[in-house]
Amino acid sequence: MQTRSRDPLAYKAEFEALIASQSSSPISDLPTAPPQFWQTKDIQVCARTRPAFDSELAQGNFDIMHADQTRQVVLQPTLDLALRPKLKEQHFDLDCCFGQTATNDSVYQQVCAPLVPLAVGGGHATLIAYGQTGTGKTYTMTGLLERMAGDLFRCLRATQQVYVSAVELLGDDCTCLLSHGPVQVREDRFSRIQLEGAQTQRVCSADEFLRLTLGALAHRRTEATQRNSTSSRSHALTHILIRETDPALVAANVAEGVLAVVDLAGSERTGDQTEHTPQRMAEARLINTSLMTLKVPTMLVLLVLLVLLVLLAIHAIHAFIGWRRVAPVLGGGGARGWAQDCIKARAAGGRDGSKHLHIPYRASRLTLILRDAFELAVRRPVKARPAPLAVIACVSPLATDAGHSINTLRYAGALMAAPPTAVLAPDPNDPAAWSSQAARSWLQGASPDHPAHGWLPPTARQGAGKGRLDPSAVLPEPADNGRTLAEMPEQTFLARATASGALSLVAAKKIYTDLWARVADTRTRQRKQIMKLRGGRRAADGQDEWAAELLARLEEEKHQPSPYVRVLAPSRPAAEGPAGQGAGSEGRQDQPA
Ligand code: ADP
Ligand code: MG
Repeated sequence: MQTRSRDPLAYKAEFEALIASQSSSPISDLPTAPPQFWQTKDIQVCARTRPAFDSELAQGNFDIMHADQTRQVVLQPTLDLALRPKLKEQHFDLDCCFGQTATNDSVYQQVCAPLVPLAVGGGHATLIAYGQTGTGKTYTMTGLLERMAGDLFRCLRATQQVYVSAVELLGDDCTCLLSHGPVQVREDRFSRIQLEGAQTQRVCSADEFLRLTLGALAHRRTEATQRNSTSSRSHALTHILIRETDPALVAANVAEGVLAVVDLAGSERTGDQTEHTPQRMAEARLINTSLMTLKVPTMLVLLVLLVLLVLLAIHAIHAFIGWRRVAPVLGGGGARGWAQDCIKARAAGGRDGSKHLHIPYRASRLTLILRDAFELAVRRPVKARPAPLAVIACVSPLATDAGHSINTLRYAGALMAAPPTAVLAPDPNDPAAWSSQAARSWLQGASPDHPAHGWLPPTARQGAGKGRLDPSAVLPEPADNGRTLAEMPEQTFLARATASGALSLVAAKKIYTDLWARVADTRTRQRKQIMKLRGGRRAADGQDEWAAELLARLEEEKHQPSPYVRVLAPSRPAAEGPAGQGAGSEGRQDQPA
């Protein structure tokens, strides 16, 4: 008696007939974005299905994906107990679904083009591609960067400059893709994520921009996997910083624009990892681990235990009936962490106000770098869409990848429920946000002999020394603003404040200490606001611990020659950095002398 195969691919003809009978309505592969796209939401979630290749179809695989404007349909092939082919239809409603015939042009026009003017206007725009290895993440991101180049330089004001930095992240190992040196990821005293050691290079034209960004991505660590002959083993993050140089606008402390383009390492099915070398297996584990961090800890423990149990069971079953029979049913093995972690945390933000949402961004370098894209609130003084985030879930059209694709799309779907990003009210007491004029009048008011001061009682004033502080001695450039002041190392401040001899060192130190207290208070206030947004009773608990940590760090930093750091500009422009390579000397104008 002939035994029937348990491999769904053996029933290709039956499945294709079923698929043809289910697709009653004509399905468009080329969506047109709804008119409200980017108008009403801060996060746009898209899916993109890559084409099925002839070689894959020739091997008996078949196409199970349909993109219909805002609905991604997966017709998952399964076999029932009698080994009869059955289709399990799953659909995911997203902001935009790009099918197999969609081009990089159409993805760019609908998803990415609106981000360029938002970033040029001072927003912090993030574009992230994630999904299984070989589903077109790098193809998409490279295509978008190519198209972005021209638009970016067309949108720029004459006084704006563009700087680029690029890093790759393999596990917690971060490397600069321009200088190839090691990079440290840390949060600075203003709560900004800094990539210390990453080179930032100025680019003056679209051509130069492309040469640098694509060249950097080409240096990424790649190795052939079974799915993709040049699979990227690491996450690649390209930061494009748009800096204003008009002295009047710098003096007013306008926000710098950021465009962050993130091409995440692909997750792989366990079945695809069977022929990997031990080194590759270790890398896959690292990638999967770094994709798994932003989760509520208890959920993490439970989920890991569950996944281990399921994997054990799958391996046992695998030995008997073969992976292909099981994979489409169970949803594929391997990593599925990044989407789970970041998206879950972000999506959960608004759902249950009674529970405090703990987002352990520091648990991995990846989530720390992406923190601003997933935070529930932003502080940017930009009115429209200060922190737009576009997520492109890349999926394969193939029957054998159904489980993995469903998993990728499930987390894209979860992100659709994310609450809108709150914009924190401007804080007039935040020194880093002061304009040039506000910073100068504060310095003036802080002078012990100034009639308007009120920061020291007369007795203390006596001990603190006398004198008058000349604001322009501390902030010599007309464009020097509150940020210049807040970022100034203590020694520089003291040297400038006491240079004329009109102010005693003791008095200068008091003023500097007061400035630092304001910086710390601002962060505490902002932190409280964010904790409140995350909700719940526990908000106050974490607060003390956090404040103690902050104060200790501020104290430590105060005595260090503080590096001049910029909002998400990982390091100073190259010519200013220790390596002193490349272009970018113009950035120096903002640096305290
Ligand atoms: P990933 O970065 O997700 O691992 P890649 O972007 O490297 O995948 O794509 C894998 C292969 O598929 C590459 O050869 C790429 O050229 C091809 N590819 C991906 N998406 C498309 C697409 N939309 N159209 C044509 N080819 C594509
Ligand atoms: Mg890739």
